Amino acid sequence: MPEIPVMERYRKQLDQLVTGERIRSLHVQRESWLNTDLHSLTNGLVGRQILFIERKGTDLIWHLDDGRRLVLQIGAGSRLEIVSTLQAVAHGVVGHSSAEADQVHDVSHSQFAVITDHAAMAIFGARNCHIMWLTAKQVEDMQLELGPDPLSRHLTPERFSQRFAKRRTTLKSALTNPNIIAGIGNHLADDIVFAAGILPTVRTEKLKEEHWNRVFFAMLDVLHHAIEHENDMDLQISSKLHEKSYAGEAMDISIHGKTGEPCPKCGTPIEVTLIQRRPSNFCPKCQIDPTADGHENE
Ligand SMILES: [Zn+2]
Repeated sequence: MPEIPVMERYRKQLDQLVTGERIRSLHVQRESWLNTDLHSLTNGLVGRQILFIERKGTDLIWHLDDGRRLVLQIGAGSRLEIVSTLQAVAHGVVGHSSAEADQVHDVSHSQFAVITDHAAMAIFGARNCHIMWLTAKQVEDMQLELGPDPLSRHLTPERFSQRFAKRRTTLKSALTNPNIIAGIGNHLADDIVFAAGILPTVRTEKLKEEHWNRVFFAMLDVLHHAIEHENDMDLQISSKLHEKSYAGEAMDISIHGKTGEPCPKCGTPIEVTLIQRRPSNFCPKCQIDPTADGHENE
C-alpha cells in the first residue's frame, strides 16, 4: 500500500492541476474495480467540475460540483501519473503539437484515467484499486470506522492519546490500526517509533501521557519530513513534468527495511522482530521500553 506521504504528494499535484477543471472523459480497464457499472460512472462523472481534492488516510476524495464524491483507494504497486497540458506549454517543455503533448492524453495503457479540460490523471501498475462514485453520506458512512488522519488540524496530542486508551496491544500494532488512526502502514510506523525512541513492542496500556506526546510529535516529524523530501516510500511519483524534482533525497531518519544496517543515529546494527507476523525494524540502543524498571522517569 502506498503510504500517506506519497498520497499527500498526489493530492497536492491533483489539487494544482485538476481543481476547477471539468471531467471530459474516463478510461476504465477493469470494471471490477468500480463500485458501479461503467455506464453509470461515465454518466455521473463526465461534465462534472472538480471542486477540490481531499486526502483522508490513504484515500483520495474528489469533491464534485453536484455534491457527490469520487473516492480512489489505490493498491500496492500503483503509480499515478498526473499531467497538465497547459503547464507543459507554459514551461516551454512541449509545444501544442509535439509528441509529448499528445502523450499527455494518451492514457489508453493505463488501468484507470480521468481526463479533464487541461490535465489527465492515470493509474498504472496497480494490483488492485477501489474506484467509488458515492454520495457525501455514503463517504461519511464509509469513514465511520476510520480513525482521524494523522495530519488533521483537529488532532491534538490529547485527542491522539485518547484514541489509544483502553487498547491492549503493542505500540506498533496500535499505530497501524486504521480504526485508531488512519493511513499509517508498516513503514511509517517503524520510523515513527524510532523517532520517538520507544520500542515497537511496548504495550500500549503501560504508556503514559508523556510517552504518547513523544509518539505524536514523532509522527508529525516523520510525516512532514517524508512529504517534504519527496523520497519514494513504496513507489516513485511519476509526473512527466516533474521527474527531476522527484529524483529523491535519501531519508536519513528511516530505519524500516534496513535490518543489519547501522542506525542513522548511533551506528548500532538495526534489528528486526515480528509483530503480527510483519517485520518490524528497531534500534536496540536508541529505542527503549520507557515503562520498564529503571526507565520510569524518562
Ligand atoms: Zn540507534
